Amino acid sequence: MQRGSSSDVSPGGRAALISFAEACAIVSAQAAAIQANRVSVAANCDLIDALGRRLAVALIADRDQPPFPRVTRDGFAVRAKDLNPDSLLRVIGQIRAGEAWAAGNPPVAAGEAVDIMTGAPLPPGADAVLMVEHAQEGGGERGSADGAQARFVRPVAGRTLKPGENVVPEGSEARRGDILLDPGSRLGPEQVALAASCGFLSVPVFPKLNVAILATGDELVDASAQVGTVAAISGDSPAAIQPHQIYDSNSHALAALVQQAGGNALRQRPARDDVDDLAACIREGLQAAPLLLLTGGVSMGKFDLVEEVFAGMGAEFFFTGVKMQPGKPVVFGRVPSNSDRPDRYFFGLPGNPVSTMVTFRVFVEPLLAALAGERNWQPNIAMAKLAADFRAKPGLTRFLPARLDTSSAVPTVNPVRTQGSGDLTANARANCYLIVPEDCDLLSANQMVRVLLR
Ligand code: AMP
Ligand code: MG
Repeated sequence: MQRGSSSDVSPGGRAALISFAEACAIVSAQAAAIQANRVSVAANCDLIDALGRRLAVALIADRDQPPFPRVTRDGFAVRAKDLNPDSLLRVIGQIRAGEAWAAGNPPVAAGEAVDIMTGAPLPPGADAVLMVEHAQEGGGERGSADGAQARFVRPVAGRTLKPGENVVPEGSEARRGDILLDPGSRLGPEQVALAASCGFLSVPVFPKLNVAILATGDELVDASAQVGTVAAISGDSPAAIQPHQIYDSNSHALAALVQQAGGNALRQRPARDDVDDLAACIREGLQAAPLLLLTGGVSMGKFDLVEEVFAGMGAEFFFTGVKMQPGKPVVFGRVPSNSDRPDRYFFGLPGNPVSTMVTFRVFVEPLLAALAGERNWQPNIAMAKLAADFRAKPGLTRFLPARLDTSSAVPTVNPVRTQGSGDLTANARANCYLIVPEDCDLLSANQMVRVLLR
């Protein structure tokens, strides 16, 4: 069992706890190493299916963006310098979105205006657009040479324009050949929109990362074995859950978190608190996926066997405890390769359901992102005003299920009432975690504090 230097081990035989910041740095370093050594095959994927996946190549601008000087207001294309309180401009034509100024037409000249719509290309000669709201139109004020009724427009209330007003210059958003998205970028709706704006209907993405999920604990009942059976509903089957048993919820929580993070969750059946069963399930998980997540079995109890089993497999432990709450006994490590598979990362997440979810969000997600090809993963953290004083015992970085209220000018956060890290009800009612720094004994009302969004 490799656990760093022996000075890191406490008299109880357990490795000393490291700070939350140190643990984050260790995960980041592993993520960076994964990125540096990454070889992965890409596959083309329809845009909508690419949502949440990581781009395998750079997205390159196929042409200048915008490809023409794009008008951003309905109004009149003019020469800005022609506008003064007395100007009366002759309307010489119209351009709708999707139309071009006919090649044979002369440029817009002094004293002229073109009726133009949002999204249309600015005609040559014009350099700005007078918004329709700032224009007063009139017809027949002066007869045109060919006898037709000419239309005229004047700026209202002495409006003037600067050159470029209400126009996005050609190529100002991107130049043809520019990198629009780096390889590894996670494709959210905004990135999908950008790809579509370049005419791509499919993009090369990295494969979804498989993540094996193994809940451990003799008390666990796998609800999936009962779903839909009459016995489960009536509760009178021998297989029905006993009062001292609980449904395995962690593997479902982790599956949801993995899917949300763009991975592909492979749930295993829960393992018993038994060295042989646990080892068999772990071997199966390591075989199936580059990342294995376990829950439970990492505390100090007699039947917390996860570390022992990994140690027996020659695992390297990056950390085996972090000064945080919930999540203190969290374990992160790597199992060496064998003839059947490459080396594998694993996390032993504490079994308390809130601990499982918090440790996923702060440690697993960055590693999963790196394994899946994403660069520059950042936690989803925001600042909010604390609603009321909060006292804490210093020494641990704390993550408290809390409600962020964004209805006021400054978002306000309030911890929810909870029975602790087993309280799934409170956790589901919360919508974020209030972060209490390790050295802090008091957060004061109205103070700005960090929250982990979810
Ligand atoms: P452990 O980390 O194994 O000591 O478990 C800590 C607490 O979390 C105990 O109350 C367990 O019953 C509970 N727990 C462990 N695994 C799960 C799971 N898969 N689903 C729900 N609760 C769990
Ligand atoms: Mg247990």
